[in-house]
Amino acid sequence: MGGTAPDREVETDLFIDGHRCRSSNGNRYRLHNPARPDEIVGSAPAATAEDVDRAVKAAHAAFPDWSSRSYEERAALLRSVAAQLVADTEDIAFRSRLFCREHGKILKETMLEISRLDLRFRQSADYAERLSKDEVIAGPPFDTIVTRQPRGVAALIVPWNWPLSILGAKLPQALVAGNTVVVKPSRNAALAPSLTLSKIASLLPPGVVNFVTGAASEIGDPLVSHELVRYVNFTGSIDVGRHIMKLAADNITPVTLELGGNDPAIICHDAELNEAAFSRLYLGAFMSSGQVCMAIKRLFVHRSRYDETVDGMTRVCNTKTVGDGLLPETDIGPLNNAGQHRIVTDMIAQAKASGAELRECGEVPDMELYRKGYFQKPALVLDPEPDLDIVREEQFGPALPIIAFDSEDEVIAKANDSRFGLCSSVWTRDRDRAVALSRRLEAGYTYLNAHGPMAQDGRGPFGGFKQSGIGRNLGYEGVIQFQEYHSISGPEGWLL
Ligand code: NAD
Repeated sequence: MGGTAPDREVETDLFIDGHRCRSSNGNRYRLHNPARPDEIVGSAPAATAEDVDRAVKAAHAAFPDWSSRSYEERAALLRSVAAQLVADTEDIAFRSRLFCREHGKILKETMLEISRLDLRFRQSADYAERLSKDEVIAGPPFDTIVTRQPRGVAALIVPWNWPLSILGAKLPQALVAGNTVVVKPSRNAALAPSLTLSKIASLLPPGVVNFVTGAASEIGDPLVSHELVRYVNFTGSIDVGRHIMKLAADNITPVTLELGGNDPAIICHDAELNEAAFSRLYLGAFMSSGQVCMAIKRLFVHRSRYDETVDGMTRVCNTKTVGDGLLPETDIGPLNNAGQHRIVTDMIAQAKASGAELRECGEVPDMELYRKGYFQKPALVLDPEPDLDIVREEQFGPALPIIAFDSEDEVIAKANDSRFGLCSSVWTRDRDRAVALSRRLEAGYTYLNAHGPMAQDGRGPFGGFKQSGIGRNLGYEGVIQFQEYHSISGPEGWLL
């Protein structure tokens, strides 16, 4: 299949207790292509509270067997899932193309997301040996074994922007730790994730992996507040995260929240700014049309390097082509949905109205398509006022404010002056400066001379300070959050 040849509409199912199924009332909803909003890409079941209840009960019933298996046994199953995920290249190509059409992001990226999910399964399986070791505290006064047990049914709630990578930061970790799960993909990117999840679920014992699709207003609250759900791992917006935390409080259900970001990138006076650096800055800010939680959302530049940075960013952005993500020449696809498009274009309009200089860059080969779809060219906003939305809020789109600073103290204060604290980056030739500045940033992750998913070390914990979240996914920490500590204690000399 090449170019923009019409693809067939895809119908997905729910997966509960080892079976593909429809929603209890048979309702479905349609997904449209954000590049061509008239085009229907397919439909997914609109699940109900009853379906959620069935899925949670299936996961609960599967828990005793799954949790009693050894770490090695579960790890072996995860490794075989990993192998199956990449075994069929034709299927990978099909799901990547479907993902591109339902989501908008370019084919190269959907391919990357789908074809690298296996890595997260293998990484999680590799923790089996470490997980199987208890900590031992010898007396006096007591001998104690500090062990960990899986929590039970985990609800995994995933946003639309990087649905498979984010699934990969929760699902294999939950499973190797011994939990069974109910996954809720986003309504706005449900088709390729559902096909992928069906594949995974059918390779595991019935009930271990279940998923439900549909409107959050129907199935979100019933899932989070279900009394058999013992843990919620959520990625999404701050507002929904806050709502989930309140709801989970009723059953004292623990939550991990991976929320929004407004990441600062700091270009120091001694940064190496060659074309490779501008390409990395471009990727850090504009990959997935800027719809990345850990994208550069504020670019702070030492005044001595400001003009050079603006010129370099303008140059690299001008080489990019905006259009349908299925076309090989496209670098920037549409935004995922009309609401997100409006948020970004409103922020740009506000910045323009305030008098900030705006540079909209890039090539648009098909203006008619551009007008119909949810497109926005990469936009640089120069020297914006500090209280503009484009500076203070999360744009989650291809628009980047570029702000000058004079001293390190000033830029640290500005970077930290935010309710967000997800990621950040420092760009300098000086290793000691890089580490010293990083330690002063209120952020869960700092990249050096790079920023974003392509620079992420998946072996380290990932998550936010302040309103960017609670808890950590990925790394060993991302696995043990799916477990409870349990101390087993006896008289000194008797237990150990
Ligand atoms: P969202 O908060 O609207 O939705 C996230 C998920 O929550 C979706 O599956 C949605 O259906 C579900 N949901 C909504 N209401 C719910 C409810 N009442 N109960 C249970 N689930 C409910 O976010 P989005 O628009 O899908 O994603 C974009 C946001 O996600 C951005 O703010 C972005 O920064 C953030 N994000 C954060 C990270 C991170 O790791 N920190 C990663 C990716 C995206």
